[in-house]
Amino acid sequence: MKRKILLGMAGALISLAAPAVAKPAMYPVATARVDFDATLTRQKDGSWVLDYRFRRKAPAWFFLRSFPKLDGTSWRLDSWTVETPGVKLERQGNYDVLAAGKGMLQRVRIRIRPYGQSLKADYTPYLLFSDGGVAVYDAHYGLVPLKAAADAAALPSDLNDLKIENPRGTLAIANPGGTLLYKGMTTPGQARGDFEGAGAYAYSGPARPIETAAFAGILDPGLPAWIRTELNDFTPRLFALYRDRLGPNASGRPMALVAWGGADMPGQSYGGSVLEGTVVMRISGTKTADSSPAGLSRLRWFIGHESAHFWMGQTVSYERRADAWITEGTADVLAIRALQQLVPGYDARGELQREVDDCIKNNGPGLPLSGASARGDMRTNYACGATLLLAAEAAARKRDPNADAFTWIRGLIDANRADGKVNQADWLAAFAAVSDPALTAKVRDYLDKGVDDPAAFLASLFETTGVAFTRKDGRLILA
Ligand SMILES: [Zn+2]
Repeated sequence: MKRKILLGMAGALISLAAPAVAKPAMYPVATARVDFDATLTRQKDGSWVLDYRFRRKAPAWFFLRSFPKLDGTSWRLDSWTVETPGVKLERQGNYDVLAAGKGMLQRVRIRIRPYGQSLKADYTPYLLFSDGGVAVYDAHYGLVPLKAAADAAALPSDLNDLKIENPRGTLAIANPGGTLLYKGMTTPGQARGDFEGAGAYAYSGPARPIETAAFAGILDPGLPAWIRTELNDFTPRLFALYRDRLGPNASGRPMALVAWGGADMPGQSYGGSVLEGTVVMRISGTKTADSSPAGLSRLRWFIGHESAHFWMGQTVSYERRADAWITEGTADVLAIRALQQLVPGYDARGELQREVDDCIKNNGPGLPLSGASARGDMRTNYACGATLLLAAEAAARKRDPNADAFTWIRGLIDANRADGKVNQADWLAAFAAVSDPALTAKVRDYLDKGVDDPAAFLASLFETTGVAFTRKDGRLILA
């Protein structure tokens, strides 16, 4: 989302007269070739109907974004019904594929029951609000043509190296008789998008957008009062700290979509993600219904982690999924360090200990950290990214007693603001600047090849950089 839109959002969010149609109609597109047109229409009964019209001849198309549900199976196969006779929706390797029984695909109609749970490494397809509102993520409908459906089975989960182009199609999202809040603007009836950029949520529902000093957006009316209070009061303090220590973020004042999933399920569930100026949160569970010290701490950590992504993740973003350890590890440590400053009595040591323990447990002998995303091992990105950052923080403090994680991360962000990307080489360069070439080479090996004894490697890394710890029964105990 562009800064311009965000700054103008206060009015645009609630104004039907906003320049929603300022963008020329996308169809037909004059410059780029369009392979397909998609229309996603909200139905009165809560389902959605997806219509494709293909302009390019192909017997099969695969969904570029096909990350599965948390249990590893396809959310599309779970919640989509193809209504066009002869057309199949199937899973081929890492991808969902639409395939013609014979000949070429021309028009396809699919009925969708909105899937509102988290995916393994992608945005929740439908964010369901307790008052009937729903936000749909637009990028899940982009297709790429194939010569044969089975060809998708050979494709790796990370396509970055294959340089596959963005889907060349248009998408219309329709909410007949209602409005849509999409890319910072409220539009009546229908909004148009494409498959360029990172994608965005389109909200339709009865809730009115609200504004706070830190964000504007939709807060589910069903959210427990204490969560609303925290979002309203704690978030501005947190953003002030991040801005002070990390400089401006690329999004200005972000948009928040916060859905309440109810208190029926046991425990507490916080799901979140950040994309182009928007933070999306899903909160549910019995334990979240009422405020408790543990719940408050968990919620604040969650807000801290997701908000940190507006700097590490948005202001600079990774180039390859293999580098997700940089953004997730940073968001974890920034949240912990921020809470340490903002919340009296917060147990930062306990949180950091959990990261070190999980890193050693998950990223075992011979496993390269940069392979964690491809292995589907997301927890490792958070835990080991945070553990490496602890070492960088300590190394920075050796040089400058006033330095902390914010100081080092700000240096990493500032060095990469120009191109907006941060990769492994950038991280290692910033690490080398506060340590030395030999140690940097060891960290590179840990990232690229893995090490025989991860606990011994981290112990020696901590010793050299100055992270205070003791060893006990093979565990590294932070001091
Ligand atoms: Zn994150």
